[in-house]
Amino acid sequence: MELKKRIVIAVDGFSSCGKSSYAKLIAHELNYLYLDSGAMYRAVALYAMRRELVRPGNAEVDEVVKLLPEINVSFTRSTGGLITLLNGENVEKEIRGAGVSSIVSEISKIKDVRKHLVKLQRKMGEEKGIVMDGRDIGTVVFPDAEIKIYMQADLEVRARRRFDELKQKGIASDLDDIRKNIQERDYQDMHRTESPLLLAEDAHVLDNSHMTFVEQMSWFF
Ligand code: C5P
Repeated sequence: MELKKRIVIAVDGFSSCGKSSYAKLIAHELNYLYLDSGAMYRAVALYAMRRELVRPGNAEVDEVVKLLPEINVSFTRSTGGLITLLNGENVEKEIRGAGVSSIVSEISKIKDVRKHLVKLQRKMGEEKGIVMDGRDIGTVVFPDAEIKIYMQADLEVRARRRFDELKQKGIASDLDDIRKNIQERDYQDMHRTESPLLLAEDAHVLDNSHMTFVEQMSWFF
């Protein structure tokens, strides 16, 4: 499929709905850039975690904010897909682990962290021709995005998907812990003051609980 002009496609929604796989494939089909904004919050969370500035339920907000000027998150591509770089270091595997997952919501609710990352995200989307997934892409980062998709799926389906994804990456995990973590992150993402997860008025809702990947693709194209 070819679009007449290069546009921005925002894919928002709950944790583990398959947003990134979906966004990646749309980007591939359109020959667009795919960007995972969640990876950027995860990378900042890792930076803070390594300095012991965050633990579940608590973050040293002022200390984290002070560090922001020295945190750069970028992406590079490899045959296996997108790789997240934290100040040049490949942190792709580490940011997906249970440690970062358990504290990332503490970091993503900090106003200045969001400001810092939204600035980077807008820069990455300057040239358009981009598919970005996250929680606030269609509402805050690119409110003028030409296409906005809001994804949702049943909790049980999402927990199983995350479990399988981690397994495939060789990361051992526990299904009950994953379910609990997803529930907690849903709650925090929807109830935080800064840029909560919201359905944009002009977004198309895609509930993929019982859809195959092929069905999801034909829904889009
Ligand atoms: O998408 P993923 O689950 O990897 O995102 C990790 C966390 O980053 C989310 O739980 C959410 O707290 C935060 N996030 C966010 N805004 C975005 C993308 C992710 O707050 N645009």
